Order: sequence, then C-alpha cells, then structure tokens
Amino acid sequence: MPTTAQESAKDLEYYTRALKAPRIRDAAAKLAEQARAEAWTHEDYLAAVLAREVAAREASGANIRTRAAGFPARKTLTDFNFDHQIAADRGQIHRLAAGAYLAEAGNIVLLGPPGTGKTHLATALGITAAEHGTRVLFDTATGWVTRLSAAHAIGKLPTELRRLRRYGLLVIDEVGYLPFEAEAANLFFQLVASRYEHASIILTSNLPFSRWGEVFGDQAVAAAMIDRIVHHAEVITLKGASYRLRHTEIETLPSATAENQAH
Ligand code: ADP
Ligand code: MG
Repeated sequence: MPTTAQESAKDLEYYTRALKAPRIRDAAAKLAEQARAEAWTHEDYLAAVLAREVAAREASGANIRTRAAGFPARKTLTDFNFDHQIAADRGQIHRLAAGAYLAEAGNIVLLGPPGTGKTHLATALGITAAEHGTRVLFDTATGWVTRLSAAHAIGKLPTELRRLRRYGLLVIDEVGYLPFEAEAANLFFQLVASRYEHASIILTSNLPFSRWGEVFGDQAVAAAMIDRIVHHAEVITLKGASYRLRHTEIETLPSATAENQAH
C-alpha cells in the first residue's frame, strides 16, 4: 500500500484513468476532505464516491436516450397546464409517468381534437420513460410508415421490427391526419402487431376509433389494430379548444366588435 498522500493520489490518477472514470478521481479527492473532517467510515466514504458516479452516469444516460428519441420539442409534465385540460387527470398522468405500463408492455392512447395537448403529453411521458431508463423513439405515423417502407423495400422488414422491439417505447404521433394506402396500412398493422404484449406504444390521434377505418381504408384492418392497441391500454380523450388558439380568440374579439359597429 502507498504510504504518502502524494503516492495515493498518483495511484488514484492511474486507476481512474484505467477505468475511464475521471469523475471518480474528482469525487474521491473532494469527498476525502469531508470524510476526514467528519470522520466517516471507509465504507461510507466509498459509498459516497460511488453514489456520485452512479448519479452522473444515470444523468448522462438519460440525456443520451432523450436526445436519441427524436422528440420534436422538449415538453414536460411541469409545463403542462392541467387546469386548461380537465380531461387529463393530473393524478392519472403522473401515475402513468411512473412507468408501470412499460414493464407490462402496455400502451397509452391520447385522442382529441388538434391543439388539445396530445403531442405534448406523449412527449412528456416519452421523456420521463427515457429518464427512467427506457429506450424510446418518437415519430409521426407517416414517419413510421416511411421507415418501415424503406426496410420492406430491401427485404428487411422483420429485422427492422425486431430491432424496434428493443425499444421499450415507441411514440406514434398523429394517426389520422393522413390516410394510408393499403400497403402503408399493412406495414403499420405489422408494427402494432409486432409490439403487442412485447413493448409499449404511446399513440395519438385526432380521430376516435370509430373513424380509423377511414384512415386505414379498411374496417377489418382498423378493427384488428385497435383490438391489439387497446387490449392493454389506457385511453385518454382530451377535450376543448386548441391551446394554440387560446390567445387568438381574445385578440380577435375587439376587431370583430369594431366590424359590427362599422355596419
Ligand atoms: P395536439 O398534439 O393535440 O395537436 P399539442 O400537444 O401539439 O396539441 O399542443 C399544441 C401546443 O399547445 C403545444 O405547444 C403544447 O405545448 C401546448 N399545449 C397544449 N395543451 C397544453 C396545456 N394543457 N398546457 C400547456 N401547454 C399546452
Ligand atoms: Mg400533435
């Protein structure tokens, strides 16, 4: 064992470089002073150093997963105004954010008219999942079909579906804005079917399930898909006016009044 503080520092430098863990070296030096001052046990000191490293690794893992997920914007549950969207129960959303559904390969479906917060909540739940250690990918329904078409075109659809199953959560945004051709509907169905009881989906749509037949051009395909999605799912139907337009209404009122007076 080294005898001097200088030798110890050199050894620490060497071993933490070998471990590629410079933060351990820094934490070890910093906490050593505190440990001596407060007479910590050796075990307490080692635990405190390792706890710092674990916290830092978890934080950077969360950042990497969040960036890799491809969210369109950073939206969080803290930014979400639950008073504006009474159809989203704060308790329910926070319980979902805790992530039990991910372990059970359950799904979340967010329905409702444009601007009611579907993408916001889907993103916020996706970010929470990524922070808690789940691999997440976000794309629109059209985006997913484009990815799958590309894989299908080179005969790699099964490989791609298998690869995607390694993601604990896929967010599929905006089902229903664009109708699918038969080929696209079939690819989308395969995506849903391949995740059924294996891995989770958060899906958003502006259309109620009763109108999905129009999106997929086929009632039977739509019904088979809905069946698999909702079997283990929480379905939340958002309501109300668009959050995007909430200020516009107020601003247009005076000019409407002025117009009325002019006539
Ligand atoms: P949707 O996907 O339902 O069309 P978005 O989630 O994109 O709607 O919401 C539109 C905009 O309004 C986004 O910028 C979103 O962050 C914001 N927004 C919607 N609802 C709320 C809310 N209840 N609290 C805070 N921001 C909201
Ligand atoms: Mg949206």
